[in-house]
Amino acid sequence: MNGPARSLRLVGTVAYREDAEALLARTGDAALVERGIPRSLVMKCPDGCGETLVVNLDPRSGKAWRLDRRQDSTTVYPSVWLAGGCRSHFILWRDAILWCDRFEEGNVEPPYDASIEVVVLEAVPFDRDAGAAELGTALDLLAWDVAKALRRLGSRGDVREGAGRARGTYRRVAGR
Ligand SMILES: [Zn+2]
Repeated sequence: MNGPARSLRLVGTVAYREDAEALLARTGDAALVERGIPRSLVMKCPDGCGETLVVNLDPRSGKAWRLDRRQDSTTVYPSVWLAGGCRSHFILWRDAILWCDRFEEGNVEPPYDASIEVVVLEAVPFDRDAGAAELGTALDLLAWDVAKALRRLGSRGDVREGAGRARGTYRRVAGR
């Protein structure tokens, strides 16, 4: 084993899960299952354990992740967290695999354009908390890009993060 994968390699788009599994050779390989709409992202677990992960993308089949394929890269939101098995927990962001606990020290974030922070700040409400998924949809930006923008705006005091259950959501600070 050569350590965990740090990037995702999309090896194909197929109609059925069995066809997807047949394409996966290396740790971090993934294939998209699509029939009319994206159904799932099938991955060779990026931690190297050899298991196959199925990330559901179809809201009709229960809890679903959001897939974004812009600029020929793959992003999935929110983070992928396996409750059972090897307990892998990672973020897929522009083909980068960012580990959330184990292996975290080797994370390399994808390129980020700080100029989005102007429009993100404009979109944060004053009177309620809003999160990266909601704002990303409203602004047509990747949720992980918006999440980073919100953290940076928060560290400058332009927005304030909620506490407790509202963690990860933000409202705008009056006067900013
Ligand atoms: Zn694993």
